[in-house]
Amino acid sequence: MSNAVKPAPAGDPATREYWEAASRGEFRIPLCTACGRHHLYPRTICPHCGSSALAWSDSPGTGEVYSYTVVHRAPSPAFEADVPYVVAVIQLDEGPHLMTNLLDITPEAVRIGQRVRVAFRAAGEDGALIPVFKPDEGPGAP
Ligand SMILES: [Zn+2]
Repeated sequence: MSNAVKPAPAGDPATREYWEAASRGEFRIPLCTACGRHHLYPRTICPHCGSSALAWSDSPGTGEVYSYTVVHRAPSPAFEADVPYVVAVIQLDEGPHLMTNLLDITPEAVRIGQRVRVAFRAAGEDGALIPVFKPDEGPGAP
């Protein structure tokens, strides 16, 4: 097993709250207060209506597998112990899609439309938490 540290994302002013919330174990996504729609990735202008009237919204972090692929060749030593692993596009219940890791499931068991829920995994030298997803075991699941 590799002891290499998984890389942490480099935040910018538009994404800072996303990463800081994740490090508190919270999943927050941008909400446009002009048109009422959520979006990801975080940015300074709503991709739906062009407004800059944006706020942060607490999300339950639930959704379904929209698409996925299986990584068999680690991109760096930090991921050697993980292969094969699943990189998935998740459609959140609020509508936005995001690319993430899908954990706690074998690649053969992943299904399009499968219900998933956010979890958090440490990354970077300071152990910052980043959002990942796991199969949703239903109401009351941790
Ligand atoms: Zn908008």
